[in-house]
Amino acid sequence: MSGQDARDVIAAHERVHGMRLATCKCGWEEPIRGRDVTVLHAAHQLDALTAAGFAIVKLPEPIHRCDRDVAWLSRDDEIQVDYDSRRSSICVSYPDGSDIPIYGPWDADRALDVGTALIAAHAEAGEGDD
Ligand SMILES: [Zn+2]
Repeated sequence: MSGQDARDVIAAHERVHGMRLATCKCGWEEPIRGRDVTVLHAAHQLDALTAAGFAIVKLPEPIHRCDRDVAWLSRDDEIQVDYDSRRSSICVSYPDGSDIPIYGPWDADRALDVGTALIAAHAEAGEGDD
């Protein structure tokens, strides 16, 4: 499934209406047993996306936004996007308010590469170990 677009994955898992079963055109089916069939099928589609290598994450809210930049916090580091250069960096934030870039700056494609590699590393390492 490598190279498959998320829309292709979802389209391959179109809901098929059944009486007592939540069913999908891929052949998946599960007894409804009083549950919401839309939710059951949505969970199946999320499982299909995950199986195809997609990560479903909720994006964090920025800790800072102004007309020059926007920033998110990851532990003691700050991840910033400078609006003028359209480049992002990972910075160490100091108590005096200064931010020193330690990784980057990256263009949007490189930032996506780094971000998705970090999500993959998280998935490999597992959850629960802070
Ligand atoms: Zn399916």
